[in-house]
Amino acid sequence: MLSKPKSADGGRSPFEGSKFGASDDLSRGELFVHVDLDDVWAIGECYGINIPRTHQHVVYEEGVPRLLSLFDELKVRATLFVCGKDLEHGSKVEMLRECLRRGHHLANHGWSHNLSFRKLEAQHIEEEIVRTHSWAEDALGVNLRGFRAPGYAWSINLLSKLAQLGYLYDSSLMPSPFGGVLRFLDARITKLVRGNKREKTQYPLLGDGFRPLKPFLVCGNDGACIWELPVGVGPWLRLPFQASVCLQVGPSYFHFVEALLALSGVSPFVFLLHGADATDFSGVTVSELKRLRYFQMPIEERMELLRLFLGTLVRKRCVHVSEEWFEHRNVIS
Ligand SMILES: [Zn+2]
Repeated sequence: MLSKPKSADGGRSPFEGSKFGASDDLSRGELFVHVDLDDVWAIGECYGINIPRTHQHVVYEEGVPRLLSLFDELKVRATLFVCGKDLEHGSKVEMLRECLRRGHHLANHGWSHNLSFRKLEAQHIEEEIVRTHSWAEDALGVNLRGFRAPGYAWSINLLSKLAQLGYLYDSSLMPSPFGGVLRFLDARITKLVRGNKREKTQYPLLGDGFRPLKPFLVCGNDGACIWELPVGVGPWLRLPFQASVCLQVGPSYFHFVEALLALSGVSPFVFLLHGADATDFSGVTVSELKRLRYFQMPIEERMELLRLFLGTLVRKRCVHVSEEWFEHRNVIS
């Protein structure tokens, strides 16, 4: 059991240690592309609004094929984080099979996209992970190696459970002190769409806001280790750096944070997209969602910006698939 993470070099923060040396040893100019495949049903639950059955699966129907085309065009291989519940749908399983055929990897995003994840009992956390894992294994024949908690609900309990289950890496940590601001904005959005307020444990706690930006290894007293791969944030100010934020704030924000990352030499890092980023919501007649600019954005504008973001990153950095990168580092140790 991982009671407390330990550091390989003793004196420093336990989270800065790595079995393979300090994270500064990691090579430079590298990037991981991740996609959280939260479908519209998960977005509806997040803001407490009802999504008609006909619109619940638009991300898989609309957004995922479009992302696959963009990845092909830019020669990007990504890791796609799957909610287990979606594996109950044959058409979604088929779409995930297509993702695998094109060289992408799948990872675990929990079963039900539970946004109180940080507060769940250990047994409930295990159920969320294991159920998705088993379904992916049965339906697709894949052994999921990575995990991201819904809402970036990072915790030591989660790492402990994942290490026990033999997972290679977790990517739930958003090392930004802006968790409180993000929770405030989330509450405002819920109010704006007149959704039902619900208890959530989204976004980082202040104490986790200054954890390392680069991958680091966490080992428990029992010797079980797991890599933590933080979600991308910029250096210094630690502004969130993911596609949905860049789409909403604009390309200047993207270029600003990307320039800071290049200047600081932070590498590798995760550029996170959501399936919704590449989804055309013009046919989704849910009035609550229509109140938000993000869902009003024309698909042409979304795709043009996503092409700009990914194209810029791919030109400057070498894209790796997380599963292969960590496997390799474990082998060479
Ligand atoms: Zn999610």
